[in-house]
Amino acid sequence: MVLEAFLFGASGLIIGSFVNVLILREGKRDLMGRSACPSCRTVLKVVDLVPVFSFVYLGGACRYCKNRISLQYPLVEIGTALLFVLVGLSPLPIELKILGVLIMALFVAITVYDIYHTVIPDVWSYAAGVVAFVYGLLAMEEASQITYVVLGALATATPLFSLWLVSRGKWMGLGDVKLAFTIGFLLGPIAGPFAILCAFIIGAVVSVCILLPLPVLLAYAEKIGITPLSRGAPRFTMESEVPFGPFLIASCILVWQLNVYGISIPFLP
Ligand SMILES: [Zn+2]
Repeated sequence: MVLEAFLFGASGLIIGSFVNVLILREGKRDLMGRSACPSCRTVLKVVDLVPVFSFVYLGGACRYCKNRISLQYPLVEIGTALLFVLVGLSPLPIELKILGVLIMALFVAITVYDIYHTVIPDVWSYAAGVVAFVYGLLAMEEASQITYVVLGALATATPLFSLWLVSRGKWMGLGDVKLAFTIGFLLGPIAGPFAILCAFIIGAVVSVCILLPLPVLLAYAEKIGITPLSRGAPRFTMESEVPFGPFLIASCILVWQLNVYGISIPFLP
């Protein structure tokens, strides 16, 4: 148990640092090539790139130019590691755990990218969809598994697709619809739509409790010397477009993991 948590946690930190690279370079440069400081462009050494530890050791600043490093890097690494441990300690068979952590890594990448750009890169969405489809098939034992998994995706994506259609993409992005397919593959035709409903509730609660006071919190963080978001990150206001992907993913992970750990959810068979 301890060993398993350690192995999944350590892989989570490493994959998490790769997820940071993925987010940073999406649509800009290829994934190969050495990492450099975004401020001074100095190519970083291996000791500067150890997940979380380098950030803590360097006091959250670049070794060379002393500019602050975004908190996003250690947060993504820690978040990925925690999700990996969550999957690693679940009672799932090993093949589902491996597919599960892959989905988690893509979920982290999509969440962070959507927060910054209010767009979900198609490649990540499709990759998550394929992995979730295989996961759905393996998780089912009955002969009718394909029908069930496909039905799950259709039942989950249809409500969001309708919103997208009716509002001509104003209330809902097509990226969210694609993400809903992944959620449906993972959760099936009952828990899938339930997760979508929960995403709207979580979205409403978070918008009121966090996004309204967010400008004040960010201003305070900057005053005491923390840079919570990279430069150029959006400053959300209630008028601006709030990404829905993170809420879909949070809700999906919640319903999915409660299910995996055998914790029954109210209103759900
Ligand atoms: Zn630097």
